[in-house]
Amino acid sequence: MNIHERAFSEEQRMMRQSCRAFVDDVVIPFIRENWQREWLMDPDGRLPAAILEGADKVGIRTLGVPEEFGGFELDQATEVQTFAIIAEEIARGDCGLADKLVQNWKVSVLLRNLAPRHLQERWFKRLIENPRLLFAHCLSEPRGASDRWLPYNVPEAAMHTKAVKKNGEWVINGRKHFISNGYDAGLYVVYANTNPKVGVLQGTSSFLVPRDTPGVAVARCNETMGGRFMNNGEIVFEDCRLPEDHLLVENDALGKAGVYFRPGKIIQAAKNLGVGVAAFERASDYVQNYVQGGRVLIKHQAVALRLADMATKIEAVRALLGRAADAVAANAPDADTLCNMAKVFASEEILKVCQNAMELHGGNGVMLEMGIEKLFRDAAIFLHSDATADISRFKIVKSMFPQTAGKYAGPEG
Ligand SMILES: Cc1cc2nc3c(=O)[nH]c(=O)nc-3n(C[C@H](O)[C@H](O)[C@H](O)COP(=O)(O)OP(=O)(O)OC[C@H]3O[C@@H](n4cnc5c(N)ncnc54)[C@H](O)[C@@H]3O)c2cc1C
Repeated sequence: MNIHERAFSEEQRMMRQSCRAFVDDVVIPFIRENWQREWLMDPDGRLPAAILEGADKVGIRTLGVPEEFGGFELDQATEVQTFAIIAEEIARGDCGLADKLVQNWKVSVLLRNLAPRHLQERWFKRLIENPRLLFAHCLSEPRGASDRWLPYNVPEAAMHTKAVKKNGEWVINGRKHFISNGYDAGLYVVYANTNPKVGVLQGTSSFLVPRDTPGVAVARCNETMGGRFMNNGEIVFEDCRLPEDHLLVENDALGKAGVYFRPGKIIQAAKNLGVGVAAFERASDYVQNYVQGGRVLIKHQAVALRLADMATKIEAVRALLGRAADAVAANAPDADTLCNMAKVFASEEILKVCQNAMELHGGNGVMLEMGIEKLFRDAAIFLHSDATADISRFKIVKSMFPQTAGKYAGPEG
């Protein structure tokens, strides 16, 4: 047991144990058995229902659901850390599957904090009862996603998706893209402009949109280079009419989203870490068995040095991630800064870990059937999800130097 594991609570130890068994016994054999499966161009047939059902059996599909609605409530004081531990474990098996599951946790945290009680009852009940039900959150649009993350708080940067109140209903029109679980989800959290005269921070509202609402259409499944089992999707809203009570937050939705954006960044970095751990495990196994130049690879010093660097990067990511998770749990003033640091640091360092793993495998590293290149592809998508690396850096600087850091956006000239 390492230092990190010694700090686990009993609950975390047990959850990690059952999650690890699920990953080792079910997920990894599934991935290794057929490397072509993730390339099926029929998104409905990509991930067998049995995998989601298996995740459900070990209780990792519905984390974040309060006990009174049938969930297994985690210790609130350490919930964010527990999310990180479990997300890392699942991503060690497959980061697309991890992404599928963690969207449910994130949206559950949002629901329990912001949704009216009768909608919490309805959706938590459905989530608990249906092992295939998935949630998604829809912020990004074909234009301006980075503007909303910064945020570039002017009317011109407003969401193009609009919601207007008419005759006691909200009517939504617009398009969301790059949405994890977008192709499969039964419930969407949708961000839309409700006041075009003000900036995104003052004029963006959030809504709960059941997929079967007339006017909602899944336009496509985006074929991503990594995390392919997450079935990223594009959703169109055309005169989609919602009851008034499906409004979550009026106008200040981005301000209130911190309740799940912060745990979301932790989970993001943790999934990323899991991909790096898988790459390290595979590479260390390989270099201890593969003979080249008359000795196993690890005995060649250049190889040993690479392995040491990979291990160091993994521990550095884990340490920063742990510090950020502690800051979120304590609601510390530097929590957002640390979350962005952990997310961006993980995305860049783990990609290097995966590149090293690929190189240490020689030609085998780029052969599809070996699955090492898959880890490299999986790691690459973390550069762009939950804000790009550069936008995350701007957020770090802005939070550290709020008076002088500037806006990082605006008209030319
Ligand atoms: C795998 C994956 C999963 C995702 N899942 C979700 C999801 O579940 N829900 C959701 O809502 N979204 C999701 N996204 C969308 C994601 O949040 C956006 O892709 C991301 O925020 C970047 O936005 P963009 O792609 O529009 O890039 P753009 O905003 O068009 O940026 C393009 C480039 O310009 C740079 N740039 C932009 N503005 C500035 C500036 N002011 N100064 C300097 N550089 C700038 C960026 O850093 C980037 O390099 C996902 C994306 C991916 C790849």
